[in-house]
Amino acid sequence: MCIDGYGKLDTSNVGKDASMPWFNIRKQNKEKESQESSATEKTGTPKPPVRSAEATPTLPPHMQRLVGERSKACPQRHASVEERRAAYDRKRLAIQYDIEQGYLATKPENPWTHRIELLTEALGTIEDDLKAESEAPPASFYPLPPTPISDITIERGRGIAVSFTIDDHRFAFAETLDWAERGHRVSQPEFRATVGDIENLVPAETPPQLREPLKQHLTDSLAVFATDLRDRALDKEPMPTSATLADLAGLCKVCGGWADWRGRCDACTNRKAREQSLRLEQTRLLRERANESEERHRRAERLPIARRRMADLEAEIAAFERSLREET
Ligand SMILES: [Zn+2]
Repeated sequence: MCIDGYGKLDTSNVGKDASMPWFNIRKQNKEKESQESSATEKTGTPKPPVRSAEATPTLPPHMQRLVGERSKACPQRHASVEERRAAYDRKRLAIQYDIEQGYLATKPENPWTHRIELLTEALGTIEDDLKAESEAPPASFYPLPPTPISDITIERGRGIAVSFTIDDHRFAFAETLDWAERGHRVSQPEFRATVGDIENLVPAETPPQLREPLKQHLTDSLAVFATDLRDRALDKEPMPTSATLADLAGLCKVCGGWADWRGRCDACTNRKAREQSLRLEQTRLLRERANESEERHRRAERLPIARRRMADLEAEIAAFERSLREET
């Protein structure tokens, strides 16, 4: 039987002791309920719920809410108990997890230490790779003759074209402006070789194993040279007067390989890029290792707190179960 009897609830004691658990109120209500049900038995008709205007205002708002909720929950009382128990179980599991993790963290063998070891290993590999990069053997080099670069010609049409002669071989580069007009262009036009065979620039005496690398270097360096000519033309700067083939494949002072017309070395640029990415990875792993160490420390530090929380929860659950027993 579920009678809304809170109108008759004696609230004279409620609120005097702020720590009074809610289940005592339920107990009081229960007593009222049984009194009412015996009254019902005597008269044969159930008493209508009393919501007297005199009784309700004496109830503090938070108590009104509690009792209101209680009367609403009445038909699902068992469901509520089960829900409450399930909530306690979830809470217990979460604290149990914290305790286990905290306990693990205090042991010499633990997941954090294991991960820290793995990260240390990975960091060692990165150190080795960085060392290998810095100790790389000198790059290959073969000097080119100081053959003059002559007959530099600039032509302006729809795009700009440059051409020049090296050792009687003509080379030409041109801009392609298929989709972008100069003046309101949205992107760099393509500037590419249109005439010339690089093979003609590789000296006959070049060691066979260096022919291909030199050809590749000259292909790039020639494009750099042609681009410089184009930019000078656009900026109305004078053309180089004493450029030679040797200037297209100078010696890189850092790695001993070939540098291009502007003195830049591809091997060094690539090495720097590799070193940079290794250093980024190194920083990331160092941070990750520090996080693991911090997490382990934090977990161990929280162990006594987790144990205290568990004791509190167990006490709360025991009180709850006791209150249920007292109700029945
Ligand atoms: Zn270099």
